[in-house]
Amino acid sequence: MLYLGCHLSSAGGFAAMGKTAVKLKANTFQFFLRNPRGGAAKDIKSEDIAEYKKIASENKFGKILAHAPYTLNPCSKDASTREFAQNVFADDLRRMENIPGNLYNFHPGSHVGQGLEIAIPQIVEILDAVMPEAKNTTVLLETMSGKGSEVGSRFEELAEIIAKAKINAPEKLGVCLDTCHVYSAGYDIVNRLDEVLEEFDKIIGLNRLQAIHLNDSMTEFNSHKDRHECLGKGSLGEDAIIRFVNHPALKGIPINLETPNELDGYAKEIELLRKHYQE
Ligand code: FE
Ligand code: FE
Ligand code: ZN
Repeated sequence: MLYLGCHLSSAGGFAAMGKTAVKLKANTFQFFLRNPRGGAAKDIKSEDIAEYKKIASENKFGKILAHAPYTLNPCSKDASTREFAQNVFADDLRRMENIPGNLYNFHPGSHVGQGLEIAIPQIVEILDAVMPEAKNTTVLLETMSGKGSEVGSRFEELAEIIAKAKINAPEKLGVCLDTCHVYSAGYDIVNRLDEVLEEFDKIIGLNRLQAIHLNDSMTEFNSHKDRHECLGKGSLGEDAIIRFVNHPALKGIPINLETPNELDGYAKEIELLRKHYQE
């Protein structure tokens, strides 16, 4: 089954996102629970959730993916920024209990010169504080491009965070792989996809891979930049992207586009991928 969708605005609520997804021929989607800059969270209304659940079941949606705000930095040098990260993270996970059985993705953060030795324990500390809130949600660490001082551009870094977290069963804590980010980080999913996935399996475990961000990249391989491009217009190219979604190890994992598109552009990319997908 191909669970395919894209990032949607949560301005109209869950039922509105569900309806938009159906129009785009999507059967999953990604969204923010609050302003991506980390502001106040939107109210969650029980009627909206009930309507969303009906749409999701009628249209056989896969798991949907909430994305943490970009300002959430669990390994900031600044203690008050880490405290903010922890509070927002915990509040988001409590909100996720309104839509049980779904996914919450976050960026491990930027260590801003502190180094991994300090950053990784800080990330683990925040996870240990917030994970008890994730009763019916799987929390995912996103693979990063390694721009600036980003943590999580190497599979080993994500594996270390997961191994050190107190609550870390695969159904609780996993990984979201971003194709633009891993390619920029130096994992050659264009020419060596099998080997990259083998490496992921060896270091993190493919059972941890529970969501995919499907993006082409504006920048070249191993550039350590984070510039998403529309499918087929970047350095990954259409053929590599189609091979990627058809890889047997990735079947059934929800895929979300974060390409620079409006809704009509997303609809076209979804159509292209569905056309080239082999059940
Ligand atoms: Fe992200
Ligand atoms: Fe992403
Ligand atoms: Zn990105």
